[in-house]
Amino acid sequence: MERILKEIAAVFTANGKKVFLVGGGVRDTVRGENPKDFDLATDAEPDEVCAMFRKQKYAVIPTGIKHGTVTVFFKNIAFETTTFRAESDYVDGRHPQNVSFSKSIEEDLSRRDFTMNAIAVDLPSGRLLDPFGGIADIKKRLIRCVGNPLDRFGEDGLRPLRACRFAAQLGFSADEALLAAIPQTLQTAAKVSIERVRDEFTKILLSQKPSVGLLLMEKTGLLQLFVSELADCRGVEQKGFHRFDVLDHSLLACDCTSTENCCLEVRLAALFHDIGKPSTRRLDESGVWTFYRHEHESVRLCRLILMRFRFPNTVIDTTCHLVAEHMFFYTDRWTDAAVRRFIIRVGVENLTNLYSLRRADAFATTGQPLPTGFLSDLIARVDMEIAEKRAFSLKNLAVSGKDLIGIGIKPGPRMGAILKELLDSVVRDPELNTREKLLEVAGKMQGNRNKIRTLDL
Ligand code: ATP
Ligand code: MG
Repeated sequence: MERILKEIAAVFTANGKKVFLVGGGVRDTVRGENPKDFDLATDAEPDEVCAMFRKQKYAVIPTGIKHGTVTVFFKNIAFETTTFRAESDYVDGRHPQNVSFSKSIEEDLSRRDFTMNAIAVDLPSGRLLDPFGGIADIKKRLIRCVGNPLDRFGEDGLRPLRACRFAAQLGFSADEALLAAIPQTLQTAAKVSIERVRDEFTKILLSQKPSVGLLLMEKTGLLQLFVSELADCRGVEQKGFHRFDVLDHSLLACDCTSTENCCLEVRLAALFHDIGKPSTRRLDESGVWTFYRHEHESVRLCRLILMRFRFPNTVIDTTCHLVAEHMFFYTDRWTDAAVRRFIIRVGVENLTNLYSLRRADAFATTGQPLPTGFLSDLIARVDMEIAEKRAFSLKNLAVSGKDLIGIGIKPGPRMGAILKELLDSVVRDPELNTREKLLEVAGKMQGNRNKIRTLDL
């Protein structure tokens, strides 16, 4: 990597320009981790950067030209390259009123959010610039603002959420003055565009321990501001087998899905699977809290929240589906057909995610390790059905619409209904899934229909 950094730096110096490695890449290197991305800061203006790399046949994409950012693709690595920025007026708390460029890296560093993000490495010399004590803060595992937190959060309302995100990602704690400034600047945070909020929220959810970031959000009022439905789960006690209130239960469930293969939809589903509980809670005659049909209310609220955050429809649909299905209770009395119906209802592609959610939910109820073999009987039976290549959808049937046309059934809703009935029959009895048998069954269905028609006449 060092070699590539020297090579890219050589392009800047040959053009009489300065260049520094900045941002997360430097922070991660100081932490002893491999940098995940490479941000460069330079005194070259964006069109100059484009020109000098294009001249050498490297691809350059103007990713954020208004903010002075272009992405240079150099030896298969994407370098986000931003022209030194000067202090600017943040009139609306969202965007600088006008971005102006600076000639000095020091000024550029002074407008960055946290000390750990305001360290620069001069290229190619490797000389470190750390005007705000970022390295010492990284050693202390501390998130501290560059300058006065009240001013900095007043300029850009996303920064408080970024602090919570870094706390969750890095396991660092936040400086007291930083924490104290968040409740006082919530009106600026409220103005931030929902897409920027969503991207930070997503990073919190995909971090090692999302609860760290979410609890900081709660403590500082950001959770109430952005996901009030979740904040409302605080203090909603459940009793029975449950050890935690609904919020702590949801956070613990969310953390537990963290291990391998964690995907955003599972994390979101774990966080919101009980979000309908506060509004469905009732005390029954024996003084026990009930949450009758809470999963329906959870799906409704979950969809509203995810739509508000403008998540893509695929993320919304998958998450809501997982929430809707999270309450299954397997017993060995399930017939093979019941196992097959379960697979069809959940969808083969969602099974692993649903198991992961169910395990997290069960663990987060008591906080005790799960009994050995939890879900393993169900999983074994599901896997067997899948290995047997059973029909789980219309396209696995041994007949198609075309075959049905061949025996005189016209395309249309009636044909759709017959195909669905055929699938139901095959789920009950997989032996029926041959062309011959299904055509016979379909013929009978059609015959019955014709008889009814004749009677009608
Ligand atoms: P990662 O890429 O891992 O999310 P990062 O620190 O590189 O972390 P980026 O969003 O890529 O974060 O931003 C690059 C750098 O730009 C940051 O390290 C920080 O110095 C600066 N920065 C980003 N967003 C802001 C902001 N809202 N206010 C001030 N400085 C910011
Ligand atoms: Mg970065």
